Amino acid sequence: MEIKELKKLCLEEIDKNRDKIIEAGRKIYTTPELGYKEVETTKTAVEFLKSLDVDVVENIAVTGCMTTINSDKQGPKVAVIGELDSVVCPEHKDSNEIGNVHCCGHNVQMGGMLGCALGIINSGVYKYLDGKINFMAVPAEECIDLEFRKSLQDSNQIKYFGGKQELVHRGTFDDVDMCMMFHALNFENDKNCVINSYTNGFIAKSITFVGKSSHAGITPNLGINAYVMSTLATNNINAQRETFKDEDKVRISTIINHGGDVVNVVPSKVTMEAMVRAATVEAMTDANKKVNRSLNAAAMALGGKVIIEDSIGFLPLATNIDMGSIFKENFIELMDGDDTRIEETLVSAGSTDFGDMSQLMPCLHPWIGGVSGALHTKDYTMSDEELAYIVPAKAMAMTLIDLLYDDSKKAKEIIEEFKPSFTKESYLNFMDENTDTHVFDYTI
Ligand SMILES: [Zn+2]
Ligand SMILES: [Zn+2]
Repeated sequence: MEIKELKKLCLEEIDKNRDKIIEAGRKIYTTPELGYKEVETTKTAVEFLKSLDVDVVENIAVTGCMTTINSDKQGPKVAVIGELDSVVCPEHKDSNEIGNVHCCGHNVQMGGMLGCALGIINSGVYKYLDGKINFMAVPAEECIDLEFRKSLQDSNQIKYFGGKQELVHRGTFDDVDMCMMFHALNFENDKNCVINSYTNGFIAKSITFVGKSSHAGITPNLGINAYVMSTLATNNINAQRETFKDEDKVRISTIINHGGDVVNVVPSKVTMEAMVRAATVEAMTDANKKVNRSLNAAAMALGGKVIIEDSIGFLPLATNIDMGSIFKENFIELMDGDDTRIEETLVSAGSTDFGDMSQLMPCLHPWIGGVSGALHTKDYTMSDEELAYIVPAKAMAMTLIDLLYDDSKKAKEIIEEFKPSFTKESYLNFMDENTDTHVFDYTI
């Protein structure tokens, strides 16, 4: 069958089931759940996929689910991903009793992913494609509620905070060759789609300065002031800033969680939290080394001790330009040839665990309109369900068809050309090596 005919069949199927797709997205909006707790959301996804008459694997990483199409075919495998988790924003009018609400629009991408699956499967189009497809509902994208995730780590239920990181670790992506998803975005201008994305990665740091307490009035000379160490450290970090290249978009944020107990005692223990963000893995690790030197120097100057607990948050996102071009053509077709509302590139200092995927394989991550009000805020609201749910479902399905049609020619070319920054093994090693505790002890 001609590729045009396949796309037409798929789009007709999505149009026929428009209400069902939007209903799934709306339903997920009413059950906002945080990472690795997406029980109801997973249930909705499982029911939807099962209604397409396919086998579904449930709880792929604590929660989440997936189905595989064409597992008997040769060709490359493409994963189409939807994220399950909500955020917390108690002031949002739709937040539930514990403040959870889908104001990052993950219910929108779930609806789009399920709609894409419905189009490809129900139309029978998949039979004409020469590659495999995973439709995946993936847990825990937002890096929040970390105490709960630590408890899952402690009971060996997960190794990583991020759902995609966890799935890489579990081997779910072992035979996946490329990945795609989309994210809802509130456009402040007249645009409605961004094709390519570059976002920062980050290292999360928990820092403890340990000194010696002593009466602040009578014998401060006998103390080792942990609070002063933390202020020195902050100044040392600030002194590094001119060494960062503009294009690396380095951001170093610090807070003091605990700054001492009482003012008339030299503080013996101060805890800080820091986040080191940058646009490349190299810049991230370089900036982190400088931050650790700064912390070390502060402890050395005062003759105290610093304990630094580092862990990799997410890696930088760099999406694949060729996948982007294919998606763009399809999006323009859905906009009746109007390309004036498309923005080519989004560069942001924010982070997502889809960044980790983009270091391993070619990835597509467009941002599509249909919502208004800033993400993660009380102003977020749905404004255009057709653009939010249906257009992305169609554009992703058309892109899948393009990639896997005719012996998966386009997918194979893109995979061939792609140079991964990591293999699975080197990625997991990198995560382990950079999840480390450093102790510098100069206690006198
Ligand atoms: Zn978010
Ligand atoms: Zn999000």
